[in-house]
Amino acid sequence: MNTLINGLHHVTTIAGEAQRNVDFYTHILGLRLVKKTINFDAPDVYHLYYGDETGSPGTIMTFFPYGRLPRGRKGTGQLTYTAFTIPTAALGFWINRLHAQNVAVSAPQKRFDETFIRFEDFDGMGIELVTSDADARTGWATGPVEASLAVRGFHTVTLNEANPDATIRLLTEQMQHRLIAEEAGRFRLAAGNGTPGAFVDVQHSPGELRGQQGAGSVHHVAFSTDTNETQLEIRQTLEEAGYMPTEVLDRNYFESIYFREPGGVLFEIATNPPGFAADEPVATLGRDLKLPEWYEPRRAQIEAKLPALNY
Ligand code: ZN
Repeated sequence: MNTLINGLHHVTTIAGEAQRNVDFYTHILGLRLVKKTINFDAPDVYHLYYGDETGSPGTIMTFFPYGRLPRGRKGTGQLTYTAFTIPTAALGFWINRLHAQNVAVSAPQKRFDETFIRFEDFDGMGIELVTSDADARTGWATGPVEASLAVRGFHTVTLNEANPDATIRLLTEQMQHRLIAEEAGRFRLAAGNGTPGAFVDVQHSPGELRGQQGAGSVHHVAFSTDTNETQLEIRQTLEEAGYMPTEVLDRNYFESIYFREPGGVLFEIATNPPGFAADEPVATLGRDLKLPEWYEPRRAQIEAKLPALNY
């Protein structure tokens, strides 16, 4: 059988103020701003992408910073925590760094024999750093965060579900995931090579309120597929199982289909090509505002409405 899903591709979140978002993800977390563009469906709002040097699939955190916006609420039918990998030896560095930046961080906790810490970004989005030395990816080196300590990319996303069974069935029967572990109502599923960046945790959350969208809440999670052909193949599989994936949409840096999983989380399947170097060199990724060609004629009006960003 062809590999149709490799693991995670990106996570997209609703944010508040753009500058605070840039400060958190570049300065504090040390990711690279790899693309500064607009929300293709709402061109007066940025779409900011952060990741490793090139924005590799499985490292990409993206945001729509809407400005002043009430906070969302974590709950069922939502992706509640996005976990990134750090090297085991970097744990103390990150605890100290987050404290020094006035980010409230949990004590180290254990899950599936791995240690992690938990905190929130300035808008309340849930983040975890999981220690793992099984992650061979290279992090983005910045002034305060050298390469040996840097965040490597995604480890896991956690979906809170009132009824986990239907979501687990979708992931295992249509989306090529395997159930690999269970602990305290948390079901870990793995895709592809089963390394960090290819994990989804379905957290059984009985009695929890449904999540509410707002600043700090995740809009959707995207899974990675290799080509347009594998994307059409998974699309057909989903349709045959009764899901209603969208047509293929051109997102400039990947092509996408979207559908809602049974618990309510919006899923996307995104192609790995063409990637973020499609319209600017790797060396200067994220420096200039990039627009899809159909918005270029309106560049002046669009730029005038967007806040200036320092980074
Ligand atoms: Zn997306």
